[in-house]
This record gives sequence, C-alpha cells and structure tokens, in this order.
Amino acid sequence: MTMLDPVEYRRALRQTLELYRLAGVDQFPRVAVTPPPPAAAPPAGTPTPSRAAVPGGPTPWLANRPSSASAQGASATTASATTAPLGTPAAPAANRPAGSSPAGPLANPVFRPSPLLLPLNAPPSTATRDERRVALQQVELEVRDCRLCPELASTRTQTVFGVGDPAARILFLGEAPGADEDRTGEPFVGAAGQLLNSIIEACRLKREEIYICNVLKCRPPSNRVPQLEECRNCRSYLDRQLATVDPDFIVCWGTVAAQNLLQTTQSIGKLRRQFFRHGRARVLCTYHPSYLLRTPSAKKDVWEDMKLWRLEMGVDLNQKPGSS
Ligand code: SF4
Repeated sequence: MTMLDPVEYRRALRQTLELYRLAGVDQFPRVAVTPPPPAAAPPAGTPTPSRAAVPGGPTPWLANRPSSASAQGASATTASATTAPLGTPAAPAANRPAGSSPAGPLANPVFRPSPLLLPLNAPPSTATRDERRVALQQVELEVRDCRLCPELASTRTQTVFGVGDPAARILFLGEAPGADEDRTGEPFVGAAGQLLNSIIEACRLKREEIYICNVLKCRPPSNRVPQLEECRNCRSYLDRQLATVDPDFIVCWGTVAAQNLLQTTQSIGKLRRQFFRHGRARVLCTYHPSYLLRTPSAKKDVWEDMKLWRLEMGVDLNQKPGSS
C-alpha cells in the first residue's frame, strides 16, 4: 500500500471533510467497531440477491459507480433566517389511496411552512398555460439584461432562466448554472443533468412535465458557491417564476436551493425527509445531482426522498407500474 505524504494526507482529509460539510454533514458519531460475525454460507442453490430485488428498483442510476465528472455541488451557503416553527400538519394528499400511508420511517410527514408571508391556502392560479408562458418570457427578458451582480454579469456567457411546462405541477429548483448550463442556456444539462434525467425517469415522470430553474440565473465563476447578496439579488426573479408556474410540488436540489427557498440555515441533511410549505406548494429537499456524482453512496438517500415525495403525489414507487 502506498503511504501518503503527511502534507498530502492532510490536504486529502481537508477536502474530504469539506465535501461532507457541503453535503450538510457536520457531525460524525463515534461508533464502536465490532467485527461482524462470520457469515454463514448459504445453502446450495440459494439465489444471490440482486440490486433489482431491492424494493423500489430497478433503478440503474442507483448503481454506486463513481463519476469523474466535475460539477457544482450540494454546496452550503448562508441565509438570514432560521427554520420556521412547526406548522400545521397538511391534509393527506387527495389522490393517495385510502388507507395507505407513506413508506419508510416518515409515516406522518411534518409540514413546515416557509417563513415567507405566502398564503398556505391560496387557490391555484387560474392563468392559462399560454398566459403563464408569456408572463415567464417577460421575466426572462428582464433577466437577460440584469446586471445586479456585477461579477456574474461580466463573466457569464448568457443567463439561464428556466425550462419546462409553464403550468407544471412540479418545479425543480437547483443552485446556479454551471459551465454546461452557461454554454447552452438551459438548467441541469451535462453530467448532473443526465443523472437528474435518470432520476426523473425512475420517478415515472418526463422532464417536459416539470419546470426547472435555479436560484441564480448567472454562473458563478469557477462554479463557486453563490454569495448571499447574489441570491438576494436574484430572488425577485425566482419568486415571479414560482408565482407564475404556481406548482403543487417543489423539489429543492441541494443546500443552496433549499436554504434560499425556505430561508433557513439548516443543512440539507437535516432538511431532507420531510415536507415544507412554500405558499400552497409542498416542498421536499434532497441532495444535488452534482453531489451524487461525487458521492454515489448518497444516491440511495435521494431515492428514499423520491419515493416519499412521489407517494405524496399518489405514486408508490415500490409498486410496479400498473399494479395496484
Ligand atoms: S444572478 Fe440574477 S440578479 Fe445576479 S446578475 Fe444574474 S440575473 Fe441578475
């Protein structure tokens, strides 16, 4: 085994800890290590369990294949407020089969309201799809000329506004454009976008059914973490996108999206596995696909989040399509 130079070792350790910090892991429990008992050999003829046998599978994107792709990640940023106090529990999803309950440990998901003063019981928008498309185009035109963040405005190739159905039930919120997005003008392309597409497919959805956008509309140089000031500058554009699309569900991908939407400083690790409210939309937070590219072992956590979220939409991903 090759021994690392002490300086190199410290650098690698720092990088690993930083990755954990960006993913929202700020504590490591002390665990007593006891050697596992020797596994008994299975009787002859016992089939070997396969990944496809895991409940919720088959999901090829779940394979723990490390990726060499570099990308922006589930990075941390700060926001001004703390997590909102416990809100009133939401009514069960109208389309959930009677008597069914969410899978996994979160049998009674807690709904926490965003501290933003948005009415929780506002009626859905009555604007037509075309009216919403026109409204979004208007905001996009303003974004194209925006120079509120001087550094971003001077280094971007173009702004990256958002894509998808202007009347979507689901809105995906990411962090900021990366190099591929800056080049193409579309959010979630490149390696992270491919992985997101696989997750969408595993959730039995189509990308065109979803409206996808980022907190920031301009790429931070070298994919650095967006600054608080930049997020504040761009917030009014995001709020107008959210109000126009008026989704039933928002999925925040990564710390920056979650903390900015919910105005909290809590880590993504703590925000996962529960539902929040933003206006009348139910919000779920999970890890950013870029983080999954660097940390494939976290894919199973995202898959658990997806199953919880889709069940809230009335789709049990543990069941085969078409079975009841
Ligand atoms: S990030 Fe948003 S607020 Fe900043 S320059 Fe770009 S469009 Fe304007």
